[in-house]
Amino acid sequence: MNLFQTIRCDCLVIGGGPAGLSAAAAAAESGLNTVLAEFLPSPGRKLLASGSGKCNVTNRLPLEEFARRYQCGMHFVRPALYAFPPEALEKFLTANGVPVVAPDGFHCFPKSMRAGDVLNLLLNRCRRFGVNVIPECRVETLNLANGAVRGASAGAVRFDTGRIILACGGMGYPALGGRGSGYELARQAGHEIIQPVPALVGLKSAEKWASQLPGVLLPDATVRFGKKLTGRGELIFTHTGISGPAVLDLSGSVARALANGGEPILECSWESRNAGEYRERISYWQKHAGNRSLKGLLGATLPSALVRALLDAAGVPAERCAARLRAEERERLVSAFSGYPLPIAGTDGWEKAMATAGGVSPSEVHAGTLASRIAEGVFLAGEMLDVGAPCGGYNIQWAVSSGRLAGASAGRGGTRLKG
Ligand SMILES: Cc1cc2nc3c(=O)[nH]c(=O)nc-3n(C[C@H](O)[C@H](O)[C@H](O)COP(=O)(O)OP(=O)(O)OC[C@H]3O[C@@H](n4cnc5c(N)ncnc54)[C@H](O)[C@@H]3O)c2cc1C
Repeated sequence: MNLFQTIRCDCLVIGGGPAGLSAAAAAAESGLNTVLAEFLPSPGRKLLASGSGKCNVTNRLPLEEFARRYQCGMHFVRPALYAFPPEALEKFLTANGVPVVAPDGFHCFPKSMRAGDVLNLLLNRCRRFGVNVIPECRVETLNLANGAVRGASAGAVRFDTGRIILACGGMGYPALGGRGSGYELARQAGHEIIQPVPALVGLKSAEKWASQLPGVLLPDATVRFGKKLTGRGELIFTHTGISGPAVLDLSGSVARALANGGEPILECSWESRNAGEYRERISYWQKHAGNRSLKGLLGATLPSALVRALLDAAGVPAERCAARLRAEERERLVSAFSGYPLPIAGTDGWEKAMATAGGVSPSEVHAGTLASRIAEGVFLAGEMLDVGAPCGGYNIQWAVSSGRLAGASAGRGGTRLKG
């Protein structure tokens, strides 16, 4: 008795997120008999949770600027994004009954504010082109011979195929599919994996006061990490440290520094005033509001709990009036408010990481086809690739654009095309 079931197909897509669903539909549309294997009971679990269930699908930055925002460099993401740019994604959704809106004129969401509508559209497209979607199917092994893929195995199921698209996502939110098993498959194909670290994740502060202000929100903070990285926008204090848009885009680089044994320090400006502006402000207060407390003066534009914590950290008594501030105290105060050096002890971990930094190196993949440079017949798409997408719709756009390119390339036998 044969305990194994063999499924023959032209193309096997592994992973049913936005990248895998887009890849499978594109491969099937180009005439390939396509199977999609998804580990969870149903595809698209992470997509359903995206944007707090509202799904920030993309944004309206001009294309060249959009492509520039990926840390891997625009040359790698360009072919996929130019073949299916943000504007095309908006049009595709709208034309297929999922109109898109940008309430702030920039971030795009389905008008219904339901991620499920986006998922249903991707699933319907798979159905329309006859993709065979197999849920609860965890692919564990790739079968290769002479540097070319021959198939894959998932328990007792064997796939017999010459084309495989790896679209297994990253490691964030394990309950939504982020388990990193795709990296093992890529390793079997001969790829080296850049150590995955959590990205788009809150950071744990090494200073106690920073975890004692949960819920305090600053609308216009600036956070710097090293000379090159700057995050600007909302900053939110959490039970462990800091989070929010000003922090999230830096978090992957901070996590990388931590993984390398570093002790990263962020320079935080809580209301985006520089040191000179603070000095001017304080001089003004000393002249015109000398008998008022610093706590009250600084508290006019910043939450009082933060002001108290920063005065304390700067060693300035909260009730000290402006006129009696000594020169050395003024300097400590200026640096605490305009560029506080906040040491970071860790991240909030994979459970809360909206993305992954690391994975398969773009240098091992043809940008023009997303075919592996290492194993013939293997293509890669989505978050598995180390592209370093920031917050704001860049991840889903990359997943869909790269999925479409990988699927279309598989349909053209794209391994032979150079990227
Ligand atoms: C809470 C949250 C909110 C987010 N919000 C946004 C947002 O608003 N906008 C945005 O652009 N991005 C957002 N993201 C990021 C975005 O959702 C992901 O980058 C995107 O889903 C990646 O798509 P993917 O198809 O590459 O991977 P995934 O969506 O992770 O899909 C990969 C799939 O592969 C399956 N899989 C893995 N290994 C195997 C295997 N061995 N065999 C079979 N199946 C396997 C997994 O179960 C999973 O379903 C958010 C992420 C999270 C966690």
